[in-house]
Amino acid sequence: LALRAFARGRLAVPEGGAAALPERLAAALPAGTVRTGVRVTEASVSRVTTAEHGVLGCRSVLLATGARTAAELLPGLRTPAFHAVTVLHHTAPSAPTGDPALLLESDPGGPVAHTAVMSAVDPARAPEGRALITSTVLGVPPDDTERRVRKHLATLYGTSTDEWELLALHHTAEAVPAMPPPYDARRPVRLLAGLYVCGDHRDAGTPHGALASGARAARALLCDLGVRLPKEEDEEAEEAA
Ligand SMILES: Cc1cc2nc3c(=O)[nH]c(=O)nc-3n(C[C@H](O)[C@H](O)[C@H](O)COP(=O)(O)OP(=O)(O)OC[C@H]3O[C@@H](n4cnc5c(N)ncnc54)[C@H](O)[C@@H]3O)c2cc1C
Repeated sequence: LALRAFARGRLAVPEGGAAALPERLAAALPAGTVRTGVRVTEASVSRVTTAEHGVLGCRSVLLATGARTAAELLPGLRTPAFHAVTVLHHTAPSAPTGDPALLLESDPGGPVAHTAVMSAVDPARAPEGRALITSTVLGVPPDDTERRVRKHLATLYGTSTDEWELLALHHTAEAVPAMPPPYDARRPVRLLAGLYVCGDHRDAGTPHGALASGARAARALLCDLGVRLPKEEDEEAEEAA
């Protein structure tokens, strides 16, 4: 699904980094609406217990954590299997290509699954005067990951990577929820009146899926609170048919 979107459109990332998207959403809300750095330890329809600020009363709860935390806070929710992802960021004196394209390795031998010159996509992400190349290794990374990735990148880009420097290597064991077929990409977000859950584990395992499930959950929550909403385009199309 994600690769189809990449193939049909262009490689796109939020300008300035992934955090720019939630920051932009939060900026549209009244001051003081969003508090960060607060860890929820218990959640129910009418109250949320936090590690730092005690108990907060509420009329509804919409839980937007990852799948594992959601299942811990709301026992009974299924915990999916996950895919591990390792991301490596290299800087180079010059970009191996000026093309802002995702380079896919068709040989499953790896270790690199896909790579892109991110400074060609968003120049603001690269250190001053350097190119930024970001590469992804799927599954359990091999021993000596960086050396093998660097060698593989030299073949993929057809250039020497001897002068490239490793900026960062992040391994996330539970990076994305697995989506084995047959997959229901519109999992329920309304658990009961007043209790809702959203995130990439309720939809397609991408930021787009997370946002779509958040929109579904917000609509269900407002509907339960009796707030009238404008109809969605697909509802109008259904009625017209
Ligand atoms: C390494 C890696 C690389 C990825 N690369 C890509 C990519 O290139 N392209 C792409 O489309 N997708 C990518 N993804 C997937 C994408 O990041 C996720 O699909 C997306 O972030 C899911 O959004 P979400 O809102 O469901 O969950 P998250 O973004 O995980 O947000 C959950 C939030 O809940 C908070 N939280 C958790 N527990 C608590 C608690 N107890 N109390 C309070 N808050 C809590 C967390 O701090 C976090 O802010 C990648 C993911 C990883 C890990």
